[in-house]
Order: sequence, then C-alpha cells, then structure tokens
Amino acid sequence: MGKPHVLMIPLPAQGHVIPLLELATVLAKHGVQVTFVNLDIIHSRIVDTSSPHIHLVSISDGLESHERLVPGRCIEVWYDSMPQKVEQIIKENSVSEDEKFSCVISDQSLGRIQQVAKKMGIASVAFLPAAAASLVLGFNIPKMIENGIIDGEGTPLKQEIIQFAPTMPNMVSSDFTWVNTRILSRQKAIFNIMMQNDEAIKSADWTICNSIQDLEPGAFSLAPNVVPIGPLLASIEPGNSAGHFLEHDSTCLDWLDHQPVHSVVYAAFGSTTIFSPSQFRELALGLELTGRPFLWVRRSENSTTGVGNQAFPEGFLKRISSRGLITNCAPQQKVLSHPSIACFLSHCGWNSTVESVSNGVPMLCLPYFADQFINRSYITDIWKVGLPFEHDDGGIIGKEEIKNRVDQVLGDHVFKQRALQLQKIIQDSASKGGNSYENLTNFVKWIQG
Ligand code: UDP
Repeated sequence: MGKPHVLMIPLPAQGHVIPLLELATVLAKHGVQVTFVNLDIIHSRIVDTSSPHIHLVSISDGLESHERLVPGRCIEVWYDSMPQKVEQIIKENSVSEDEKFSCVISDQSLGRIQQVAKKMGIASVAFLPAAAASLVLGFNIPKMIENGIIDGEGTPLKQEIIQFAPTMPNMVSSDFTWVNTRILSRQKAIFNIMMQNDEAIKSADWTICNSIQDLEPGAFSLAPNVVPIGPLLASIEPGNSAGHFLEHDSTCLDWLDHQPVHSVVYAAFGSTTIFSPSQFRELALGLELTGRPFLWVRRSENSTTGVGNQAFPEGFLKRISSRGLITNCAPQQKVLSHPSIACFLSHCGWNSTVESVSNGVPMLCLPYFADQFINRSYITDIWKVGLPFEHDDGGIIGKEEIKNRVDQVLGDHVFKQRALQLQKIIQDSASKGGNSYENLTNFVKWIQG
C-alpha cells in the first residue's frame, strides 16, 4: 500500500480554512497525501498551499451571490449539499488503490460529512477550530431546553449567566453562539445545525481541537473525548500563509521594525466583523486618542458578504499619518510575534485569541458574534490577560472608553506578566513531552496507520 491519503474539508470561512490547512501542512510533513476541498469561491482565493503533498480541489455550492446575503442561507446549503459532493469525491477516488482515502477530516460544524465517511466505511475525524468550551455549550443544549433557559429554537427564555465548570467562561444566554447572530432565521439555522452536529460527532473516530489542555481544563473535563492538539501554528513554519484569502501586506513588518519595543496597539477584527458607521468612527478616533502608534487592519470589504467598510472621520488619515498604519491584510501571526507589539485590540476569533496568547500579547476585547463572546470571557475573566469594553447607552464603545482601556491594559504590567505565563504554558504543551505535542504525534501515527 502507498502513502495514506486523507480527504480534508473545512467550513468555507477564513477562520476555519487556515487552521485546517495548518493541520494538512503538518500531515504532509509526515508523508501523508492530502486532498483538500474548498468551495470554488474560496479555492480561487487561496494564496499558498505551501506543500506539494497537498492537492487543492474545489466544489460548488450552487449559490448565487445575492443568495449569500440571505442570513442563515449559506450555512444551511453547505450543511445539506457538501456531504453529497464529498461522497462523490470519495467514490471517484475509490477506483484506484493508490487514490483511495484512508480517512476523512472535516470541520466539526459539517457533521454530516462525518456520517458520510462512516457510512462509506472510512475513518472519520471531526476538527474543531474553536475553543472546546463552544462544544460544551452545544452539548448542553438539551439540558438548557429542559431547564427552561432556552426554547426549542434556541431563543433565551431568561437572561442567565452560566458557567458549566470552574475555569470555563461565563456564558450569558443573550450571547450564546447562535443567539448573538442577531437575526432569527440565522439563529434557527445555526441552532439546528449545532444540535445535529452534537449527534454526528458520535460517529467520528477522533474529535481534535485546536486548543490546549491547560488553557481549558474545565471544558476538556466535560468533553473527555475531545483531544487538544493546538496551537497548530506551533507545528508549522512561522508565518506560513497557507489558506489565507488575501495577500499579506508585508510592509507592516518593516514599519513595526521602526517602532519602539512594546509600543504598538495592533487592531484587527478577523474576516467577518462589520462595524456600524458610528462604531467605526469611535474606533478610529479611539485609536487616535491613545496617542500611541497603532497598526489597524481595516478590511476594505467583508470577505463573506463583500460589503464595503466605512469611511474614516474627516482629517483622520492626515492626523495619524506619523504614527498609525492602516492595511487591508497583515501577516497577523508574524505581527503578533513582533517585539514592538504592546497589545491586541481584537474581535476575539479563536485563531486570533490563540495567536495572541501564544505570543504573550495582552488583549482588548471587542467581540462581534458567534463564539467570540465565549473567547472574550476566557481572556478577561479566566486567564485575565485582557479587558472588555463597556458600551454606552446607545450600544456604542466610545473613543474615551477605547483610550482608557488601552491605557489600563498597558499601564498595569500584570496583564503582560499573565500573558507571558500563558505563552510559556502553551509552548510547553506544544514541545516534545507536552500534552498537545504528544496528542498530535499519536494522531499523526494513527493517520499513518
Ligand atoms: N488574519 C491575518 N491577517 C489579517 C487578519 C486576519 O492573517 O489581517 C488571520 C488571523 O491570523 C487568523 C485568521 O485570519 O488566523 C482569522 O481567524 P479568527 O478565528 O481570529 O477570526 P474569523 O476571521 O474567523 O472571525
């Protein structure tokens, strides 16, 4: 028999493609042949695969661009149509012994693919590119319905703060992953799929998670079958741009080279955050008001919807030109490891969170939706490596609040100290003999057969 051949399928979103392609890179390094499936809209944007052992293929979801704007539509269509396409690919590859897949690794949120693999007699792995805590929240849905915390569609019946175990985040019912998507049709779609996924995961041979045991001991104790193998970025070449949709602007790094050590506020909000015009304005003015150098990733358009971002306040660009750099896409992993970075003002996507703490960088939290509120609670309540913001009566985080919180995080060395302690814990876990390292090694051996 030839090399093991693995079929990998991410959820079609930036924060899901990057870590799965990082895992593909690790497997390829160990001689595993990988076929990596993306939707055509993403396939055409992938900048770099970094390995000749990774073969990228594309499928279509058949959606027209206007349909992508209908809340909840994409996720429902992906959930329904991707398993059939994957089944087709598996069948086509079954003809030759050399091409045959030995394992299917799919995003945990595409649970039906795990069931397709099982049905076809192929080993199946669910990959979670989020905190284990988000899975624990999903596992608790039936209990929360029973206890009258949410109804059968996931709508909160009371405002409650739940902590499933000590060292787990405080979860506010109005911020539950599906609820904070803000639009009822999207809430229902995500909620239904989460429930189906909780069932589907039972058919997976492994559930692996891009997290670290010591970062989430409470969550892993409640989800003992979930295996932490993170952070995957520790297992690949630093700054590998595999799976990124946009070309990185590397001039950021030259600019950072010219800033004093621990001086720069790095502000970036992932691939889907959309600010209201007033929030965008306050953010700009808040960064200006800090009086500190800042690097701001301000996407000219949202990667999923294509919606353009807002205009800067009048005179802003001129006023900040000597100490602010604005870019469309930064090489974030490299940025966060740069000595001039002081703190990260972030939407708290799981990848951004892990990248920040892996580099010992304190955070300021401006979550937008989905699991980002869970991650914020880890950052501010559990690990205590950052601060949240308070909204004003109109729901806006004002410029003064932004300035004050940045000052607070940078004025108290305890945030940096804790962030460095966390960095050490993560490094130990990803080093030989560490928990994540051993788990990943065992997983790779299992894949190699
Ligand atoms: N990212 C990047 N450059 C940017 C902005 C983001 O490389 O300018 C990367 C970032 O390092 C992370 C991913 O895009 O790996 C975003 O994932 P995350 O889970 O933080 O947020 P999402 O996009 O899923 O909301």
